[in-house]
Amino acid sequence: MRILLSNDDGYFAPGLAALAAALREVGDVTVVAPERDRSGASNSLTLDRPLSLRKAENGFYFVNGTPTDCVHLAVTGMFEHLPDMVVSGINHGANMGDDTIYSGTVAAATEGYLLGVPSIAISLVSKEASDFTSAARVARDLAERFVRVPFRDPVLLNVNIPDRPYPELRGVRVTRLGKRHRAEQVVRSVTPRGETVYWIGAAGKAADAGEGTDFHAVEQGFVSVTPLQIDLTHTVQTAAVSDWLHK
Ligand code: MN
Repeated sequence: MRILLSNDDGYFAPGLAALAAALREVGDVTVVAPERDRSGASNSLTLDRPLSLRKAENGFYFVNGTPTDCVHLAVTGMFEHLPDMVVSGINHGANMGDDTIYSGTVAAATEGYLLGVPSIAISLVSKEASDFTSAARVARDLAERFVRVPFRDPVLLNVNIPDRPYPELRGVRVTRLGKRHRAEQVVRSVTPRGETVYWIGAAGKAADAGEGTDFHAVEQGFVSVTPLQIDLTHTVQTAAVSDWLHK
C-alpha cells in the first residue's frame, strides 16, 4: 500500500505529522505538502513559474506551490507507479458544505481523484485543532478499510471528524454536503502607512444543516463521510435554461 499525503496547512503542520504517523502503520507513506499555509487555495495550479521540490529533515517533501501542485507533481513526476491512495489533512478546521469549494485540503484529494487514485480529505472540526489523536485514528481506520475492502469505483471522500476523544465518537455517517449562509463581511483595517486593507471575513454559519448533512452528523458526534463528484452540471436546470435561451 503506497500512500501519498498532502495538506493545505503546510508541511510543518501538526495535523500532517499526526496523519503521517498514523498511516505509516498501514503502508509506505510519502509526504509532499506546501511550504506555507495555503488554506483556501482551492484547485489552483501554478502555471507562471516552475516549482521546486525540497526535502525537510523529517523526510517530508515541500513544494513552493499549492496543494494541487503538490499532488500533481508527486503523482506525475516523483513516482514510477500511481500511489494506491491519496490522503489530505488532517486539516486544522472543518471543511463542510460550501467550504469544499475553497478548501485546499479537499483540492489535494480532488487532484488525486482526477489522476485516478482513490482519495480522502480529512478535517478536524475544531477552531483550536490541538489534539489530532482521534482524527488520526479515524484516518487509519479508513485506510485499513481500503486495504481490506478495496472500493470498486474511483472515489473521493470528504471526511470531517468531531473534536472529541476516539471512544466518544458515536460512529460514522455517510452524508451529503450541507450549506452555509453568505460569508461575513470583509474586515477593514489601516496599515502603518495609511493604506486601507481588507481581510476576507469568516465563513457563514450553517444554513442547511438538517438531517443527512455533514454539519448535522458532526454536531451529533458522528464522523461525517461525504462522497464527492467533480461534475458541477446542474442537471435539474438544464431543461429550464434551454427553454429560457430559446424563448
Ligand atoms: Mn487548512
